[in-house]
Amino acid sequence: MLILVVNAGSSSLKYQLINMEDESVLAKGNCDRIGIDGHVSHKTADGRTVDADCNFPTHTEAFEKLVEVLTTGDAAVIKSMDEISAVGHRIVQGAEVFDKPCLVTPEVIDKIDELRELAPVHNHAHALALRACTAVIPKTTPQVVVFDTAFHQTMPPKAYMFALPYEDYEKYHVRKYGFHGTSHRFVSAALAEAMGKDIKDLKIISCHLGNGSSITAVKGGKCIDTSMGFTPLDGILMGTRCGAVDPSAVTFVADKHHFTPDEMSQYMNKKSGFLGVSGISSDNRDITAAAEKGDKRAILASEMLAYEIQRYIGAYTAAMNGVDAVLFTGGIGENSWEVRERVCTDMEYFGIKIDKELNKATRGKLMKISTADSKTEVWIVPTNEELLIARDTLALISK
Ligand code: ADP
Repeated sequence: MLILVVNAGSSSLKYQLINMEDESVLAKGNCDRIGIDGHVSHKTADGRTVDADCNFPTHTEAFEKLVEVLTTGDAAVIKSMDEISAVGHRIVQGAEVFDKPCLVTPEVIDKIDELRELAPVHNHAHALALRACTAVIPKTTPQVVVFDTAFHQTMPPKAYMFALPYEDYEKYHVRKYGFHGTSHRFVSAALAEAMGKDIKDLKIISCHLGNGSSITAVKGGKCIDTSMGFTPLDGILMGTRCGAVDPSAVTFVADKHHFTPDEMSQYMNKKSGFLGVSGISSDNRDITAAAEKGDKRAILASEMLAYEIQRYIGAYTAAMNGVDAVLFTGGIGENSWEVRERVCTDMEYFGIKIDKELNKATRGKLMKISTADSKTEVWIVPTNEELLIARDTLALISK
């Protein structure tokens, strides 16, 4: 059984074709630069590729190209789209409307589009992609939407409310939603399995560290708090995002620079974080390299990241009244031994002790890196959001 997983943005359409018999990826790629010019890059499991400039005025032409590269030419992996059992779409914002995956209908697409005010960059693009996909793929192929926010819908009001006047929540739906939910759900379940425990009995702090980063407290398999908020800007500092800052600093800086709200948002989303603090790069590898050479602002950015993560570990240990395991995932979490070591230094009070050699030697694979006498286990757990979307899609169409 084949499931096509689609992650559509405003100018890109990333995809993976997954064989659910063994959960292997048959092909993956990206139809990029939609609305600009167009480019397709496609790669099959056995190494055949397509890399070509195209014309993608809209998502529809991009989907047509996706169908073309999957079904025709030297890098085809299927003869017809009828071989695909379903399409699973990643959707960023489901708000309070969607707390689990669901089948795509015209009403569901309209609702996702209506939520665009809460996720201006993403939701409208998702709706465009869903409509384009519906027009291009066979009418008999079911489509499923899986939401980044859904896993966080179990947070209690005391965790998700902001102390703004209550009417802003009622009228404008201003609250914490949380993001990366599919990743946190995938890695926390994978960790419970690796630990040989029932997730219902575990208190896990899941640190997804990438260009965007978030930390989630998972108690008994449910999210009870998370670091990202109303948008993916909140929480710890990221590649180009500032994370949480005093709201008064925001209005003060906007005033000094004579920024409109949109300009201030760009400033906090694109020019801050690692990039803003270091003045060097948004990429963790560049920051680590510059810090090793003694660059003061790169050292500061590295220290800020580790310190902010430590504070969340402290906060979420309190929120859950304990912690059994801390996990690292995402590009930084899976690959940067330096970040993991810094986070796990001087954390004995929380029962955290890692095997430094093992930590240094491990990259991108499932591994316990805490010592045998560490009260809290520490793990690296590679994430795979596409696979979870495919599993959710399969589960829903099998019902
Ligand atoms: P996104 O949030 O866009 O999905 P990723 O999860 O791919 O991002 O994470 C990107 C981050 O991971 C970058 O900061 C990059 O420097 C970091 N990263 C990737 N590979 C390594 C590595 N081998 N060592 C250290 N950091 C890495």
